[in-house]
Amino acid sequence: MQQKTCVVTGSSRGIGRGIAERFGREGCNVVVNYRGSAGEAEEAVEAIEEAGGSAIAVQADVTDLEGVERMREEVHETFGTVDVLVNNAGINQDVLFSEMSHEEWDVVLDVHLDGAFHCTQTFYDDLAAADGGRLINISSIVGKGGNFGQANYATAKAGMFGFTRTLALELAREGATANCVAPGFIATQMVEELPDRIKDRIKSDTPLRRLGTVEEVAEVVAFLASDHSSFITGEVIDVNGGKDL
Ligand code: NDP
Repeated sequence: MQQKTCVVTGSSRGIGRGIAERFGREGCNVVVNYRGSAGEAEEAVEAIEEAGGSAIAVQADVTDLEGVERMREEVHETFGTVDVLVNNAGINQDVLFSEMSHEEWDVVLDVHLDGAFHCTQTFYDDLAAADGGRLINISSIVGKGGNFGQANYATAKAGMFGFTRTLALELAREGATANCVAPGFIATQMVEELPDRIKDRIKSDTPLRRLGTVEEVAEVVAFLASDHSSFITGEVIDVNGGKDL
């Protein structure tokens, strides 16, 4: 994957950062996208460069199409066209559905689904022109099974499955692939903020009896981004310690 240019949305921390650093170890040109956490994004750039890659941090809110288009200009000026896009940026606003406001519904769908729409449209031509372009969408176990208090998030993550399969069909005409990774519960800020009793229940419900690590998700994304996955498209790969068994 040396010299491939990879955009990872929401990669200033958490799973996105793990993916960005993993690409760095492959010698890729990595675009660390973030919304507000500039300091963390700069730390990610340093870590990627130490790992052997090249990197830039680019601020762009994925819900803002013009911002994403400005990101494309910056990426093109620095690295040229993009080979790999990972739609990872995500948020949650958990509340039982009976108490959920329209705003709480909209904001979560906007980041996950409108964000994926904006980024994929913006980089579509790059992926189509690349020698083996790769679109990788980060969904969630919650998109399959649902979860209390996460009607907005589960709906957005389920939407990623249909989006991935459709893009797989359309990008296949260009020799590019689209796949989805569905992590279970991974030790990032999003999960660490949950009350201890909920984290304990998640662990005891998981056959492997622990949270996953960002490295374990990043490893699967790196495989999907590589030439080793060249005949895999339209798939969802679970990384969940057996939680859905
Ligand atoms: P974190 O909260 O740790 O990190 C989220 C990242 O997304 C940050 O870099 C954040 O940057 C960025 N981000 C958020 N909103 C936007 C936006 N509008 N535009 C650009 N960047 C944005 O989350 P995780 O690492 O835990 O999650 C990453 C992805 O993995 C998400 O899609 C999540 O749904 C999914 N996932 C996570 C699981 C888990 O257990 N942690 C399980 C399954 C799926 P900033 O701070 O600058 O806003």
